[in-house]
Amino acid sequence: MMNRKEFKVEDIRKDFPILKREVNGKPLIYFDNAATGQTPQQVIDVISHYYAHYNANIHRGVHQLSQEATDQYEAARQTLQQHFNAKHPHEIIFTSGTTHSINLVAHGFGSILKPGDLILVSAMEHHSNIVPWQMLCETTGAVMKVIPMTQEGELDLQQLDVLLSEQPKLVFVNHISNALGTINPIGVITKKAHDVGAAVLIDGAQACPHIKPDVQALDVDFYVTSAHKMCGPTGVGMLYAKEQWLKKLPPYQGGGEMISEVTFEKTTYADLPHKFEAGTPNICGGIAFGAAVDYMNAIGFDAIAAYENELLAYATKKLSAIEGLKIYGTSPNKTSVISFNIDGVHAYDLGTIVDKLGIAIRTGQHCAQPVMDFYGISGTARASFAFYNTKTEIDQFVTAIERAKRMLS
Ligand SMILES: *Cc1c(COP(=O)(O)O)cnc(C)c1O
Repeated sequence: MMNRKEFKVEDIRKDFPILKREVNGKPLIYFDNAATGQTPQQVIDVISHYYAHYNANIHRGVHQLSQEATDQYEAARQTLQQHFNAKHPHEIIFTSGTTHSINLVAHGFGSILKPGDLILVSAMEHHSNIVPWQMLCETTGAVMKVIPMTQEGELDLQQLDVLLSEQPKLVFVNHISNALGTINPIGVITKKAHDVGAAVLIDGAQACPHIKPDVQALDVDFYVTSAHKMCGPTGVGMLYAKEQWLKKLPPYQGGGEMISEVTFEKTTYADLPHKFEAGTPNICGGIAFGAAVDYMNAIGFDAIAAYENELLAYATKKLSAIEGLKIYGTSPNKTSVISFNIDGVHAYDLGTIVDKLGIAIRTGQHCAQPVMDFYGISGTARASFAFYNTKTEIDQFVTAIERAKRMLS
């Protein structure tokens, strides 16, 4: 794929056909990137090329199409391995997304945890990194405790130390909070957890669109993400796990592809990564995930982060100037997500009015009700920016908000 020498947002926007459409008669301004990202033509082409030229089931056919599909699917796995710097390609498991990946690991820990074992969750998790563990606690008798957060929306690392002294077995934290934008210090948390013998799972769904994580440098045991937040399609994602963990955990689902030998008396499981990939996977999705990672790397994560930080600073300044507007999540270490409320205005009404002006934002709890409870609010409006957004769009957004505020208060 072509390497871009210079970051020019006007050129980048041309890659995204959806940015040309209108919503309610206005040019679309898409500020809901924390929920799902848009897809560039380069990735759309890979998807249509797959179905037009080599759609076939993988790993089991002797025919040409099956081999081409298998080669492309395995090449995508290697792209992910290199991108995340996993030691082996078989440490990358294709899943249907972050939620599936977390459930896979939580299910596996069902055979490891004993009644009374402690596991730690952070106070700022997405529901998909809370609920599977609660279900696990119900079946195993393990106990879940919460690493608290501060008013700025940062994890309280002193309290983490206190909780770690109780010898938890597992710690699970997001890399970046989807509700607040906070970037959590994963390297520090992982080191502290490993010092007391706890394993660490990182939910990277919100981080991967903005930064390039190095799983070996971070030394995490598990890292999970979804393709659709990083220019790829929905319904595909990844579980990275250290080889030793993948050997230790039992399979999540039984079926074709994940077996070595099947008789009615006994079945033996396939080698990694197939042990965790039962059934026909999202073949096209996996290949497109690889293409999405290539697309983002061609732009470069340093350029992406630098530009998004500019957007974040610009929008934070402009929004803060609006009277009665309060931003939730004010850590200096944050990415381009702004959660906010305006005095006397319901977030839902705000979202509805700006939608009439062609602007897509998110309103509500953002699948993180405990964060809303912490601030004593029912929800927020959330604008989240990607590298294809512009300052002009932010200006239009601010004007729209001021207008909505006049209408509603
Ligand atoms: C989006 C998101 C998820 C859920 O991802 P799915 O693709 O819906 O499985 C989990 N955690 C965080 C932090 C997210 O942003």
